[in-house]
Amino acid sequence: MGILTIFIKAPAKINLTLDVLNKRNDGYHEVEMIMTTIDLSDRIGLSEMSGNEIRIISQNRFVPDDQRNLAYQAARILKEKFNVKQGVSITIDKAIPVAAGLAGGSSDAAATLRGLNKLWNLGLTLDELAEIGAEIGSDVSFCVYGGTAMAKGRGEKITYLPAPPNCWVILAKPSIGVSTADVYRNLDLSKVNHPDSNAMIAALQNGSYSTVCNCIGNVLESVTLSMHPEVQHIKEQMERFGADAVLMSGSGPTVFGLVQYDSRLQRIYNGLRGFCDQVYAVRMLGERFSE
Ligand code: ATP
Repeated sequence: MGILTIFIKAPAKINLTLDVLNKRNDGYHEVEMIMTTIDLSDRIGLSEMSGNEIRIISQNRFVPDDQRNLAYQAARILKEKFNVKQGVSITIDKAIPVAAGLAGGSSDAAATLRGLNKLWNLGLTLDELAEIGAEIGSDVSFCVYGGTAMAKGRGEKITYLPAPPNCWVILAKPSIGVSTADVYRNLDLSKVNHPDSNAMIAALQNGSYSTVCNCIGNVLESVTLSMHPEVQHIKEQMERFGADAVLMSGSGPTVFGLVQYDSRLQRIYNGLRGFCDQVYAVRMLGERFSE
């Protein structure tokens, strides 16, 4: 009998809003984030292995191949909780830029949870997988469901929302890595503009593209911009080339723009390619994963 391998899609996310309410006594920040998955995905291959080993294989030199990898942690936690006596080889075919504010590692972990649930016949619901995901990282619960949702708490309390109106998302990632921890360390909550999460929820419920564009906001943006002027430059250029709304995702440095018309998309894409290596034009993936 051959070795069974299954392939799972691990999509990136963008933040339509990111708000930080306060710092909690346990050291985590209380957040409110409205996120949506986009059609830029890593491909995770899961192959059965005899023995107990969890093996990570990736061609990308920025992806750790040991217990630091969030997909490794996802496999380990399932093995321990459900006493699984099999090994697994996890191949990560990376398309999502690393340390970019697009939750690539969290999405790999979430896809590994969904995939191993099948490979190992664990019979867990998405709710149960999302709860396990919260032990791995703050964005993993959201990535288990995908689609569009509000995440509260430290990111693990998920409320499903309608998908945003149809549009293109242009992503531009400058060739710097941003440490999320550094950004949070430099965040002064008395000096930032908080996005209006309720207005964004209403815009999604009404399906209003223009209101979605008006309501996007990220409390971490000004912090990262002050640390990395190249991010500011990309924002300005994306606005100048005609995006309807422009925002940094997560703690950055990726900047995304929203646009509805193909002709405008092409102009922005070509303009950005002139000075930025990593530019992508993708659709949103508003629908969440099914059980
Ligand atoms: P977030 O938006 O959730 O803060 P991010 O998109 O900014 O995440 P990631 O791409 O998840 O960042 O990578 C952050 C760090 O996590 C990397 O520098 C890497 O060392 C580590 N890491 C662990 N697992 C993975 C993985 N599967 N893919 C990429 N990076 C990973």
